[in-house]
Amino acid sequence: MTRHFGPTKNIGTFYPPQRVLMGPGPSDTHPRVLAAMARPTLGHLDPVFTDMMEELKSLLRYAFQTSNLLTFPVSGPGSVGMEMCFVNMVNPGDKVIVCRNGVFGGRMIENVQRCGGTAVVVEDKWGAPVDPQKVEDALKQNPDAKIVAFVHAETSTGALSDARTLCEIAHRHNCLTIVDTVTSLGGSPLKVDEWKIDAIYSGSQKCLSCPPGLSPISFSERVVDLVKSRKTKVQSWFMDLNLLFGYWGSTRTYHHTAPTNALYALHESLLMLYEEGLEHSWARHQRNHEALKAGFETLGMEYLVEENSRLPQLNSVHVPQGIDEKEVRRRLLVDYSLEIGAGLGDFAGKIWRFGLMGYSSRMENVMLCLGALEAVLSDMGMKIEQGTAEAAAHQAYAAHPLPVESKKTAKAA
Ligand SMILES: *Cc1c(COP(=O)(O)O)cnc(C)c1O
Repeated sequence: MTRHFGPTKNIGTFYPPQRVLMGPGPSDTHPRVLAAMARPTLGHLDPVFTDMMEELKSLLRYAFQTSNLLTFPVSGPGSVGMEMCFVNMVNPGDKVIVCRNGVFGGRMIENVQRCGGTAVVVEDKWGAPVDPQKVEDALKQNPDAKIVAFVHAETSTGALSDARTLCEIAHRHNCLTIVDTVTSLGGSPLKVDEWKIDAIYSGSQKCLSCPPGLSPISFSERVVDLVKSRKTKVQSWFMDLNLLFGYWGSTRTYHHTAPTNALYALHESLLMLYEEGLEHSWARHQRNHEALKAGFETLGMEYLVEENSRLPQLNSVHVPQGIDEKEVRRRLLVDYSLEIGAGLGDFAGKIWRFGLMGYSSRMENVMLCLGALEAVLSDMGMKIEQGTAEAAAHQAYAAHPLPVESKKTAKAA
């Protein structure tokens, strides 16, 4: 019998090694967040737990800068948040403008098609931001389009798109917007109400210093009206917002067993973001990016994305000529316990992706990464003067002090 279970002989408790996560996500979880997760499990209808959920929703509204009532974490990774938006908002036959400038825009197209909708694809080069003019043109050619969907921070390339302008164009053409902010929330300026984003989803494991598995979402009143007035049932039972209103709203009826301990973690991570202040967190991500970039420049490593649309939390750089990129990643992991990301699609083997997200976005990680890269690359034959990258990073830190006041301003808001 046992052979059906695979080898079971030497199985013991699993102790993961302590890594430094500087890839495209997950990023390092803050110790405070890990500690929160280890607290006693509560029932998902326990009044103590539901009180915590109310706090969590407020903290999430702060993070998203929205007063949307329907703001809560979906039980599932960012991909479930994405699917949640599409299955509820796209009716069979609906036309949706989808912007694709990387991997995640491609997934949005899949979602539209699986909902029975038609995706009108606005293509941009991988590494470039979404071009607002192309979106405007697509909307003029498709006056019957209902929704515009795009990725704010494209993690496959490190490009940041102008969400405010794209939403403004969509609304001028009477479209609702679906915006992927999995990698931007907490790391780059994001203002849901000010920018009039209708449907937004994110992830716990990128710039929130929290483990993977939860997807914060928020929907405007216009989306709530749309979902309530649907003539066909949402094809997914689990993701049907009409049914979820019952649990996350005021009535607290059973829908599914919420992952209580994971939600303690998100509560703690959002509390930490609130204590730090959003503006301060954005500035911290920018500052660590400036230092990493200064170090990369001394190593002759060039960015994929143009300076004005670069994400501070996701640094894509070209692999230097003649370097075995896989071997570099292997050595960083084995010798330095440092994880970085590889390129995807056409960029596989051609770029590395260095994440500086959430709790991973720290000076000590920037320094570890630059020192380790110098050692590994020079060992592999590149001419490198040891210590120059760290020195450049130190200078960049000195030139970009953190705005201490922003902390108070953000808290008062
Ligand atoms: C990571 C990511 C996702 C998917 O999130 P998962 O938690 O892996 O499902 C979606 N969109 C973007 C932009 C991402 O970076």
